Amino acid sequence: MKARSTSDRPRPADNTTNGLYGQHILSVRQFTPEVLEYIFGVADEMRTLVERFGSADLLQGQIMANLFYEPSTRTSSSFMAAMQRLGGQVIPINSVKFSSVSKGESLADTVRTLECYADVIVLRHYEVGAAAEAARWAHKPIINAGDGVGEHPTQALLDAYTIRRELGRLDNLTVAMLGDLRFGRTVHSLTRLLLRRGITFRFVSPRLLRMPDEIRQEVTGAGDTFTEHEDVHEIIGEVDVLYVTRVQKERFTDLAEYERVKDSYIITPELLREAKEQMIVMHPLPRVGEITYEVDEDPRAAYFRQMQNGLYIRMALLAAVLGRA
Ligand code: ASP
Repeated sequence: MKARSTSDRPRPADNTTNGLYGQHILSVRQFTPEVLEYIFGVADEMRTLVERFGSADLLQGQIMANLFYEPSTRTSSSFMAAMQRLGGQVIPINSVKFSSVSKGESLADTVRTLECYADVIVLRHYEVGAAAEAARWAHKPIINAGDGVGEHPTQALLDAYTIRRELGRLDNLTVAMLGDLRFGRTVHSLTRLLLRRGITFRFVSPRLLRMPDEIRQEVTGAGDTFTEHEDVHEIIGEVDVLYVTRVQKERFTDLAEYERVKDSYIITPELLREAKEQMIVMHPLPRVGEITYEVDEDPRAAYFRQMQNGLYIRMALLAAVLGRA
């Protein structure tokens, strides 16, 4: 969905940004394989840029509002770093309790306020659909940085980019998603982004935290296959990607339930002895015990590289949405 207007500045031709200029980024559903390739290509250039020069002035004179209604370390700081490394400025509202939100201001009004000052708004919210709701009001592009248990499209982009870099392809892989598949928005987005690529999905979780019906139906609807497991040993030997997630305490209404399932899986060097030599372990982070620190030494542990990739992907996305890629 395109923002109603971006600014009075001259518009670049759309083919320079693959149609992303002025777009809201709300769901991975909007990324065609061509757009994905384009973003990955720009992200590669951003990596080179950062490694060689640290920063550039591509987004000089542009301002990003970073509006976070939920906690964040990586998403928030990597968006800020991305904007600043491209020469832009940031309005950080990472603690909405100090903003007019705490006075009861609606999301619509907060967004309409921030777009008076900024060229793009990055929004994290605790409600599914909040970014889409914000986009209804906004004239400037809204980037969904996580909407409750809904989606996390920029995380899925960096996840897919990581898989491609680490394994050389995105197609015909066996991908296991493990942990809290019910509340984990990152696995919802990543599953959707990987559809129609011949991926075999293995969903590993306690019964209580199964992948939602809607996503399972999307997988079969796309002609892809998945199986569900409670025991990680059933699949560890065959996976190319083991995508681990945190059990999301903040989403439980019954804390006793959380206590029952929180330690369902712990990835250890012993478990990884059963895994292929050529595979990767991913995690959107933060981890709270589901991967032990000894695993960090294993070259297959890709989660720190994955988090680094977030910077390049978010630089690429900001440049594209603002028409400067
Ligand atoms: N950082 C990820 C997210 O915002 C994963 C998590 O919080 O566990 O969804």
